[in-house]
Amino acid sequence: MTTQTPPAPWYVTTSIPYVNAQPHIGHALEDIQADVLARYHRLKREDVWFLTGTDENSLKNVRAAEREGISTQALVDRNAAQFRALRDSLDLSFDDFIRTSVDVRHASGVQKLWEACDQNGDIYQRAYAGLYCVGCEQFYAENELADGLCPEHLVAPELVEEQNYFFRLSRYTDRLRELIESDQLRIVPRTRKNEVLGFIRGGLADFSISRSRARARGWGIPVPGDAEQVTYVWFDALGNYISALGYACDQAHYQRYWARNPHRAHVIGKNIIRFHAIYWPAMLLSAGVLPPTDIFIHGFVTVDGRKVGKSLGNAIDPVELAGRYGADVLRYYLLREIPATGDGDFSLDRLVRAYNADLADQLGNLLSRTVGMISRYYGGVVPTPVELVEADLRLVAAGEQLYQRIDGALEQFALDVGLGAIWDLVAIANKYVVEVQPWALARRRADPAIERRLATTLYNLVETLRLVAHALAAFLPATAAAIAHQLGIALDSDDALHHVLTWGRYRAGTVVELGAVLFPKLEMASVALR
Ligand SMILES: [Zn+2]
Repeated sequence: MTTQTPPAPWYVTTSIPYVNAQPHIGHALEDIQADVLARYHRLKREDVWFLTGTDENSLKNVRAAEREGISTQALVDRNAAQFRALRDSLDLSFDDFIRTSVDVRHASGVQKLWEACDQNGDIYQRAYAGLYCVGCEQFYAENELADGLCPEHLVAPELVEEQNYFFRLSRYTDRLRELIESDQLRIVPRTRKNEVLGFIRGGLADFSISRSRARARGWGIPVPGDAEQVTYVWFDALGNYISALGYACDQAHYQRYWARNPHRAHVIGKNIIRFHAIYWPAMLLSAGVLPPTDIFIHGFVTVDGRKVGKSLGNAIDPVELAGRYGADVLRYYLLREIPATGDGDFSLDRLVRAYNADLADQLGNLLSRTVGMISRYYGGVVPTPVELVEADLRLVAAGEQLYQRIDGALEQFALDVGLGAIWDLVAIANKYVVEVQPWALARRRADPAIERRLATTLYNLVETLRLVAHALAAFLPATAAAIAHQLGIALDSDDALHHVLTWGRYRAGTVVELGAVLFPKLEMASVALR
């Protein structure tokens, strides 16, 4: 009798975007990165919970609604729906979507977190005056401004003076440093880890965690015991990562995916590092809650070399791109052409080049020539391989390394490297075809030795594509399914990925079915979007 080890939990979140504008390509990048991690850990048969949602209690939303002449709730309802709809347009697999303005579990979770920090003596009141950028939802010191303007928004910050609650961040300096230096809280990439350690060395000042009800226009989560103040956006927004799991009433779900889970990962952008790597773990330490274990930080996507922003007029709509080319084409571009932890540029020219070179010429071609030859030479029935020669062994070795290469990369959140490993195998398989020339073997197959070579070669190619399909399921799910369909295999399995990616599991005698071309070539001239 065998005992089954229960699957290990694995929790991943995106940051929750403001909903004062429509989703742009930077949101798509982060959603897709987190989605790949979630899908990958599901393939490893771990018990994944993937959370995303929307940050709705910000003053930005109040002002955006005022400009449109509608209620704040109407604005956030409408815009949150657009973010939730990315699930279909980008083929995301999140398990939960939290909305901070309407989900009762969120407000009660934030209030519980506040009370826990308060009971620990870490919340106090003091008068505050500062220069505040509403766009950033952040106070700026004079020396952080660019010619008196917010460096992000290039607008003059407002002078704000009021009595606020503060969080005693300074008290957590040593514990934060220790957590981060030891990688108990692992910050990826290492350059960002060093940046955070630099912030800590520079000294951590207590930060404001409330604002007056008046300044908030009555919008936001009330401070427990003080109806005149609402929680300030970061204390509120960061709380979503545990409030969504049922922290407020200590649900089994919260126990499973946070309190007793060794993998608590956040995927965020480089502009919000300080809040996630310093404020958030300090708040949790204060409340007696475990901090996250991993913070994976991506860069920014520029479009044609310029920063993405509605105000700059180059916001490119990820929904339109996915609708036009397919979600997997956009996913491929964002995962492969944008370095996982660095900045990258989006351009339609590059998209079409990557599509034609990698998706059409490499992957699409390998599938169609393999299934085509099996249809032609074996009536669609995959032959049994016989003995392997040196050329075969090189391909087999590359196939057998696929799991280790992907797993090593994804352990470091190097999504581009992991996806690249699949394309390396595809390239090796295409070279193998050129080297072995199955069509030449087919002409001389009356010779039994040649016939055995032909059978072995085509089996090896199908088996390579089986590995590719299973591995791609984490990155390009629709493409993986389309390949599996042509190969006559199912992708769902109770086996963990390292078993599934063992060479030789394709069953000879299975019938393949030549389907539509995966990625028909694109003409450069046909792609003008605007
Ligand atoms: Zn700003």
